[in-house]
Amino acid sequence: MSESIEKPEYLDFIREAVAEDLRIGRCKEVRTRFPPEPNGWLHIGHAKALFVDFGVAQDFGGKCNLRMDDTNPEKEDMEYVEAIKRDIKWLGFDWEDRLFFASDYYERLFELACKLINKGLAYVDDLDEEQIKEYRGTNVPDKNNITFTPPGRNSPWRDRSPKENLDLFERMRAGEFPDGSKTLRAKIDMAHPNLLMRDPVMYRIRRIPHYRTGTRWCIYPMYDFAHPLSDAIEGITHSLCSLEYEIHRPLYEWFIQNCEVFPSRQIEFARLNLSHTVLSKRWLLQLVRGKKVKGWDDPRMPTIAGMRRRGYPAAGIRDFLGRIGIAKTDSLVDIQLLEHCIREELNAHANRYMAVMNPVKLVIENWHKGKIEWLEAINNPEDPSAGIRKIPFSGTLYIDREDFKETPPPKYYRLYPGNQVRLRYGYVVTCTGFEKDPISGEIERIRCVYDPNTRGGDAPDNRKVKGTIQWVCAMHAVPIEARLYDHLFDAERPMEVPEGKTFFDNLSDHSLIIESRAVAEPAIAEIGKGETVQFERIGYFCKDLESTSDLAIFNRTVTLKDTWAKIEKKLQRNP
Ligand code: ATP
Ligand code: MG
Repeated sequence: MSESIEKPEYLDFIREAVAEDLRIGRCKEVRTRFPPEPNGWLHIGHAKALFVDFGVAQDFGGKCNLRMDDTNPEKEDMEYVEAIKRDIKWLGFDWEDRLFFASDYYERLFELACKLINKGLAYVDDLDEEQIKEYRGTNVPDKNNITFTPPGRNSPWRDRSPKENLDLFERMRAGEFPDGSKTLRAKIDMAHPNLLMRDPVMYRIRRIPHYRTGTRWCIYPMYDFAHPLSDAIEGITHSLCSLEYEIHRPLYEWFIQNCEVFPSRQIEFARLNLSHTVLSKRWLLQLVRGKKVKGWDDPRMPTIAGMRRRGYPAAGIRDFLGRIGIAKTDSLVDIQLLEHCIREELNAHANRYMAVMNPVKLVIENWHKGKIEWLEAINNPEDPSAGIRKIPFSGTLYIDREDFKETPPPKYYRLYPGNQVRLRYGYVVTCTGFEKDPISGEIERIRCVYDPNTRGGDAPDNRKVKGTIQWVCAMHAVPIEARLYDHLFDAERPMEVPEGKTFFDNLSDHSLIIESRAVAEPAIAEIGKGETVQFERIGYFCKDLESTSDLAIFNRTVTLKDTWAKIEKKLQRNP
């Protein structure tokens, strides 16, 4: 076939392959699927798969199905189905009316298994799990330490007649045999260099009720059999999956070919790995069960629900997914790139407020007693349509303890005795002294005088006032609980652990710091749960769902410091 000259420039190898299939007529339209197993909540790795599955379909005017890949009765649950649907919707992907369940195909899969039996391509085996493994063989190093795979051994039951196999398989289904006593296996090649092709198990007997089919079935199809055929049943043209399934591809094709069904094509891409976290349901479940986090939606979890609760906007996550691209080899993505995308999105859309994490009183000695002034503040300098609001200012304010030093270190431009600082939106004040608690020695109150001519931060006499700090009027302060989140793991690759340790040992001990004395300006009382704001000079915060009328809880979404921007600049200078 001659190469087309008009072959368009596609961004990635998957879109190139799909375009080629359309061009040569292997398919007329594009149909993809996202196939989560409902045994856990979705994480950012799944979001990448969603982005690829839905994105590819959309780019070619096709459709993407949502299919619950629920063929393992042990761990699956309706609770997970609902969580998965909610998260996908929230991320902005729409399966419309194409929600499917592999468990709805059990009858059809059973028929296809019978077809293989009739073709002499499947048999009922009486070996148990251990024996099957042993007969299959393993990879071993030869004398030059190069791995090779000696042929396995045929099961003594391999040559049963189709008639006998069919009868036994029907009786397996009818529940005549105990769990584990028989399996149905594909008859392929016990000497195949790919171990997965050595007569893989297609069905096993398991008397476990399934969350959808109840006790109707006591035999369940294995992933390698059910997945390609579910794809075929739905007419999936391109079955996109992560790289670990590459080795399963020959088997995928074998089942499709021999069952003579719709020729779905599997294409693999690299998984997303993110630094300072783990992305596997199994490990995430261990964190939940081990009570290392408060649940699947703990704001430190890399789950979609955790990120939503932390205040990550869906648009920021999608921006990240677009930037990391699609590759054929696995790599580790710096979590700071994700945080950068979140910060950019919030910078454009989150309103600014003033809050103080660790308050100390600041008293303005020359303020007219009892006077309250309402100052105008800009809600979002990036978005004029966000408007303005009023903030109360009086002679008793809270500022952050961090913003005052008894003896300032070099280059400290905030408050210390004798120094001036600008109070954001308010006046320039000069520190005249401070008082300490006689017992604890902690600073209790800072004294200042203000200059009435500096309202709004102007300094008409051209004084150089280097520092600007935020504050909250004491009388109007709204108490809040600020939860300062950081990376869950100190280690960049948490799964890399020395012998005798587990990834739990890599957990950070400062992934959550609670500031229970924090206060914010009164307008914060109007913020709804789930809304994200910027606390000036501190970071972006999202009002937590557990907030009550007595206590507003704010989760730190991300700090203001953009380490990624620095990394990017450096890369641009020395690529
Ligand atoms: P986990 O490893 O977390 O248990 P899984 O592959 O078992 O994930 P599934 O529910 O079976 O989870 O996955 C649904 C889809 O998401 C699959 O197509 C899988 O390839 C893809 N997927 C899972 N993890 C990632 C990841 N880190 N990056 C990209 N795609 C992923
Ligand atoms: Mg899986």
